[in-house]
Amino acid sequence: VRAQGDEEAAAKVAAANVDTGAPTIFDKIVSREIPATVVYETEKVLAFRDINPQAPVHVVLIPKKRDGLTQLSKASEGNKDVLGELLFAAKVVAEQEGLEKGFRVVINDGPDGCQSVYHLHLHLMGGRQLKWPPG
Ligand code: 5GP
Repeated sequence: VRAQGDEEAAAKVAAANVDTGAPTIFDKIVSREIPATVVYETEKVLAFRDINPQAPVHVVLIPKKRDGLTQLSKASEGNKDVLGELLFAAKVVAEQEGLEKGFRVVINDGPDGCQSVYHLHLHLMGGRQLKWPPG
């Protein structure tokens, strides 16, 4: 879990990050060019453990094909199906991970949302008492 100083550094990095449309590290995870611990996969969705977990369970769920979906604010009507699949997949993974006491699903959007990877993704977090509101 990140220390406070790291959080501030991460926020600064996020503030400098914007959607350039360039491919991201998540494409390399989909193609298995770089390793990730995949916990769930369907035709359209891939779920893997976050490399920098913020909770005992921290899984990232992505559409395998990003298309134009770099961030939620870029979603179009045509993305509704995959958005639904991602949310349902989060529920399935939560069950699979034994999060029967609850969990959280988060989408960070843009610099203010601290988005760092511009390939739309859901964070599934659980396994401890989460605080509200997030920072
Ligand atoms: P964001 O900040 O864009 O909402 O979330 C991106 C997430 O992807 C972060 O939580 C970060 O730790 C995770 N991440 C970035 N690079 C990698 C990677 O190479 N492998 C894995 N498993 N997670 C990554």
